[in-house]
Amino acid sequence: MAVRAIDDAIKHWGLLKKAITQLVLNFQMAGRQAKNTWVGHLLPCIRKTWPQFRVLVAPTLEMRGLPPPLPDVKIGRQYTSAAWVANWRRRQLKLMKRAPCSSQQDFILYKIIFKLGHLETNADNEGHPSFKPIPEAIFPTPTIGIETFRCMLRVFSGMGDFARVNAHRPRWQSLPGVRDFKHGNRICLFCWVHAKHRIVDSEWHALFACPTCSGPRRRFRLALSDACRRADIVETPLAVFDEQQWRIPFSCDLVRLVILCRKDYRLVDELARFCVEALSCRQRAFKKLTVRDLFPD
Ligand SMILES: [Zn+2]
Repeated sequence: MAVRAIDDAIKHWGLLKKAITQLVLNFQMAGRQAKNTWVGHLLPCIRKTWPQFRVLVAPTLEMRGLPPPLPDVKIGRQYTSAAWVANWRRRQLKLMKRAPCSSQQDFILYKIIFKLGHLETNADNEGHPSFKPIPEAIFPTPTIGIETFRCMLRVFSGMGDFARVNAHRPRWQSLPGVRDFKHGNRICLFCWVHAKHRIVDSEWHALFACPTCSGPRRRFRLALSDACRRADIVETPLAVFDEQQWRIPFSCDLVRLVILCRKDYRLVDELARFCVEALSCRQRAFKKLTVRDLFPD
């Protein structure tokens, strides 16, 4: 936004140029208080993406330290794209510094990034493999509703309502006792109530195995078989379902499903719908759960 304002001031002159010039002068004359000025806030932010960036006012207002201009791309848009790439790269490198445990939010994201980045691993000078972040987004630009897409992103970034992370915290009031449940406060309550199975309530359990989500799962598999037939894919996401239907699903199954779906926008759409439907099934099932279901005695 600020880069675009300065660019507009340089191109169109007028009052905007006078205002920006004054703001830069304020920064230059503020001494120790410089960091509290508009430009003082702006520079550290932009320099995270363009380290050499600065604004000059003499002999005329101009920006320095910019990358070579791209044809038909305004500088504001160029900055937004570059900032996104730089942030995404920083996020991945930070994530890779320490592997999160399975009760942490970033667990699935870490596994996805590790798997994708790992494929591009190069050895450093000492022969140790070094992590190379992926330059592109995990998923292509969505063609489904933005809310549906966001819901899927929340699920894969560990922000969904799953007890592996939140230990059923949203239900501590409505289901007193679940917080200190003697069978574990991270288990899937549906599988416990219906079959007395103690399974960690996770995204992969919900999407692959939990009976609560069997309806959405059936629809998703049907949609996958249609989409895969059209797309002529060698390894289909359906194989992931087929492989783990006789065993307990693992987080790596979900990671594999995401990686197989991510390149085809139709599969991504179906995956996003699946997440939304699975979550709403869980919400409905949670509403029906009573204290007596959990503590029959
Ligand atoms: Zn379950």
